[in-house]
Amino acid sequence: MSRTDHSEERAADAAVQPVVELSNVDFGYTTTPVVEDISLRIDSGEYVAVVGPNGSGKSTLMKLMLGLLRPDTGETRLFGEASHAFDDGSRIGYVAQHASASKEMPITVREVVKMGRFPHVGFGRLSDADHRIVDDALETVGMASFANRRVTKLSGGQRQRAFIARALAGEADLLVLDEPTVGVDAESVDAFYDLLESLNEDGITILLIEHDLGAVTDHARRIVCLNREVYFDGPTDEFVESDALARAFGTAATFVGGT
Ligand code: ADP
Repeated sequence: MSRTDHSEERAADAAVQPVVELSNVDFGYTTTPVVEDISLRIDSGEYVAVVGPNGSGKSTLMKLMLGLLRPDTGETRLFGEASHAFDDGSRIGYVAQHASASKEMPITVREVVKMGRFPHVGFGRLSDADHRIVDDALETVGMASFANRRVTKLSGGQRQRAFIARALAGEADLLVLDEPTVGVDAESVDAFYDLLESLNEDGITILLIEHDLGAVTDHARRIVCLNREVYFDGPTDEFVESDALARAFGTAATFVGGT
């Protein structure tokens, strides 16, 4: 088989390779299980929200997916590799709650976004092409006019956009967001979800952990509803019609501003 055949084969593999795959995963910090028998697969181009009450294991599940925790039993894979062994961090853009790590950093938005290029250039200087990628990322998230502003001077929503721009500059395939709109004002939240939707339309896979059910049912295409176990995994409209919400959250839960 020629080299070309091999590279075509790899490209074909990548197209069918799940971005995230969990098989029969159990995990507990102590002997008490926090997540149990989780099997799920996220394919390239999906927009998936993981929902569940506080303490239901959402953040733990995300850490397992990303290989930050190892399952007690079962397997987790990222882009086809065992998650704990996966080392191409630039393929994953992670946006934390409050993007809190940035709060103390006295650096500008552009400097944050430039960090996205570092895995691609090593210790070398950024080329003109790298700077163009940074500019495009700033433009895409609507932060070009804030490029020289310090991250500490941004609103919550602007800060989250800056971190998304960093992921875009790094050419991430998967964007993982952990309750990204906590503390962000309502108008900016809508604009933020519109941005995620357009990035997803451009082909980025989105994995969102969210407590705001209205926001996820308005935007995500697939819902995984968790409370230690998976109570529901399927299209958003079927989730809204199902009783999974009441079962996972208790009967008091309702959709606020949802579909
Ligand atoms: P969620 O993100 O849905 O709020 P978490 O995954 O943070 O849920 O937590 C699930 C359970 O695991 C909770 O009971 C929480 O107290 C516990 N837990 C989370 N992190 C740790 C930790 N580092 N050590 C021990 N227990 C933890």
